[in-house]
Amino acid sequence: MPLLRSWSSSRRSIYIDPQSNNNSHLQQLNTNFINHILFPYFLSNTTTISMTSSLESEHPIKAYGYAARDTSGVLSPLTFFRRATGEKDVRFKVLYCGICHSDSVFAKNEWGITKYPVIPGHEIVGVVTEVGSKVEKFKVGDKVGVGCLVGSCRSCQNCAVDYEQYCPKQIFTYGVPDADGTQTHGGYSDHMVTDEHFVLRWPANLPLDSGAPLLCAGITTYSPLRYFGLDKPGTKVGVVGLGGLGHVAVKMAKAFGAEVTVFSTSVAKKQEAIEGLKADHFINSKDPEQMQAAMGTLDGIIDTVSGNHPIAPLLNALTAHGKLILVGIPEKPIEVAAFSLIMGRKLIAGSNTGGLKETQEMLDFAAKHGITSDIELISIDYVNTAMERMLKSDVRYRFVIDVANSLKTE
Ligand SMILES: [Zn+2]
Ligand SMILES: [Zn+2]
Repeated sequence: MPLLRSWSSSRRSIYIDPQSNNNSHLQQLNTNFINHILFPYFLSNTTTISMTSSLESEHPIKAYGYAARDTSGVLSPLTFFRRATGEKDVRFKVLYCGICHSDSVFAKNEWGITKYPVIPGHEIVGVVTEVGSKVEKFKVGDKVGVGCLVGSCRSCQNCAVDYEQYCPKQIFTYGVPDADGTQTHGGYSDHMVTDEHFVLRWPANLPLDSGAPLLCAGITTYSPLRYFGLDKPGTKVGVVGLGGLGHVAVKMAKAFGAEVTVFSTSVAKKQEAIEGLKADHFINSKDPEQMQAAMGTLDGIIDTVSGNHPIAPLLNALTAHGKLILVGIPEKPIEVAAFSLIMGRKLIAGSNTGGLKETQEMLDFAAKHGITSDIELISIDYVNTAMERMLKSDVRYRFVIDVANSLKTE
């Protein structure tokens, strides 16, 4: 999912108004965001919420996971139930699950839509244990993945062209009402049961642990590079922010043959960017001279930063017809002078994860080019500490939970 940094947690310090953290207008923005942008996505499902607990009790398959029970977001063990394997369902044992920023946001109900208890996790890799009678793509023993979505309407104009991520009735992998009225639960759990349409085939040579974050961080950066034509050799691509999304964006763009420039406020990341991730250039975005020198040089920029930051210097860095693609969600609206777009026919756009077809294509591309996330593998009982560290950007670059080897079941 797009990178939404916790509004109550630390943010990248670049360009942030130090007065802003406690301002009431932020709460207003928060409310506007939820009411006008996020909530419509869930409106169609709200009537089923009250049915959740009774329906869930009818589910026959016992499951175990780590759940948040209130807005503290603290996760602890939970026994719950998953549905029996339906005709088109794939049941799989969870092996690994990445920790995304959205997991913390949902666990703390910062979007105002969380129904507790919630079991997060949407970077899920596992091995199939059972398939329904009409499942065509998978068999027992197959390695599989599930990302941000487990359902959509399958008939709207977006679903019809494999853009399930823009379906108005999309069903997130956890924390929202499922099609049958129960609540979805994610991959911080022993197993999943998911319609095969939303299950990805895991490439044989793609590592299961360090590949898991590709299911969110990978597709969120791959999709805009492809859609906006930034996937051609020689294209000059900027990546703003070097975190979970940014470091994968650099790897994807390099694999496409792009010349990659990393923008970061942390000079300490220069060595990592150039030597570790093989970026071609590094720009300290707090240095006006370096920003000036970058003027008019880039065909496109993937902006992964979720802290508030000015857009104008990034627009200046674009060539004519250049594209600035937002995948981070700062809490303040961005300010843009129309002149800066008009003088160069420049474009600002947003992008949200990817559809199932494209996610499969991304996994196959990653396997072919040896792209994985840099990860820190943890036991599930470390998850609360990991979340705190993630919110302080104290991870290079993604935590992945070794679910199968650390989650104790009865
Ligand atoms: Zn995510
Ligand atoms: Zn749809």
